[in-house]
Amino acid sequence: SRKLLMIPGPIEFESEVMQCMAVPTPSHVSPDFIDCFANSLKLMKEVWQCPSGQAFIIAGTGTLAMDMAAANLIETGDKALVISTGYFGLRYAEILKRYGAQVDILEAEVGNIVPLELIEQQLKSKSYKLLTFTHVDTSTAVLNDAKRIGTLGKKYNVLTILDGVCSVAGEEIKQEDWGIDVVLTASQKAIGVPPGLALLVASQNVMQAFEQRTSPVSNYYGDWANWLPIMKAYENRQASYFGTPPVNLIIALEKSLQLILEEGLDHRFDRHKSAGKAMRAAIKALGLDLLSKNEYVSANTLSAPLYPSQIDTNAFLKSVNQEGVILAGGLLPQLKKNYFRIGHMGSVNKNDLLATVGAIESALKNNGYSHELGLGTAQILKHF
Ligand code: PMP
Repeated sequence: SRKLLMIPGPIEFESEVMQCMAVPTPSHVSPDFIDCFANSLKLMKEVWQCPSGQAFIIAGTGTLAMDMAAANLIETGDKALVISTGYFGLRYAEILKRYGAQVDILEAEVGNIVPLELIEQQLKSKSYKLLTFTHVDTSTAVLNDAKRIGTLGKKYNVLTILDGVCSVAGEEIKQEDWGIDVVLTASQKAIGVPPGLALLVASQNVMQAFEQRTSPVSNYYGDWANWLPIMKAYENRQASYFGTPPVNLIIALEKSLQLILEEGLDHRFDRHKSAGKAMRAAIKALGLDLLSKNEYVSANTLSAPLYPSQIDTNAFLKSVNQEGVILAGGLLPQLKKNYFRIGHMGSVNKNDLLATVGAIESALKNNGYSHELGLGTAQILKHF
């Protein structure tokens, strides 16, 4: 029977979105699809809260969105600062190096953020072209303070890139107000569309920096010089082609963005806050610790509980699966076996949380960890 997918992406998608995946595929230059593409670009800027930005919709994954921003903004020798709160921060450092950047990394202690004062000190010490940070690092469930990092970036005149793969449409982001230059994501997380879309909104500031580069972009597929005219053409309701867009995914994207805005961004962010708070309270009530150090640095889109020492960790996830729920293992190489991850973003509702915590309670019990059943689910009922 069908199981509940509670990993940090892909997630459970709304049925109205899934129905878009099944419509007969129209031509990518048909008038209806041109309208759909144009509308999706417009709705993205509303969800990102970046009215003056340039939106890009490209076939690919979140890693492509990261790669694209780096390829288009870095020229050999440029200085870049990576604020790392886990696996995806370090991935960004690798990507930037590939394009010849001189990369410095400020790495947080596992489960925590890099203190703002340290970031400021580093920005004072050198003139960086670019700073990247992960809003929610999916390997640690740590949430960065995007508003304050964006503001710092402005103060020191450095381009800021926010990896929002695990946060856009789940955690509050006001890209324009907060002065963040690129906010990027992938479709399969809180945006609520099956995997396959790389999505980003770039500020006017970043598009100017792109235009001022002196060397060609050393990535053919990702070159904004190829894609910007395509996005502009769709915005102006004109047919255009560089690479065939994933038509059904974009039809699904338009639907999902409409649903997100119908719910209302504030309501959606509050719902995620409640889900995060309820899940963390449930985990703690079962006597388990979280990888994220405190409430202030904890993401609301996923949680990363540490296994209790008594448990047979190999059997645990299998047991949760038998209870009808799919969870994810650890992702940080050095701690892979010490924790697991629960996604709670996008369409997540109270029943999903109750089923998930119920499955965790049973699996803990079946695998040698004794606790009183119902303590976790009670916290969901209380906080959500
Ligand atoms: N950044 C973050 C924060 C992520 O969670 C992920 C995916 N888990 C990525 C980047 C990479 O995205 P993708 O797997 O779609 O390439």
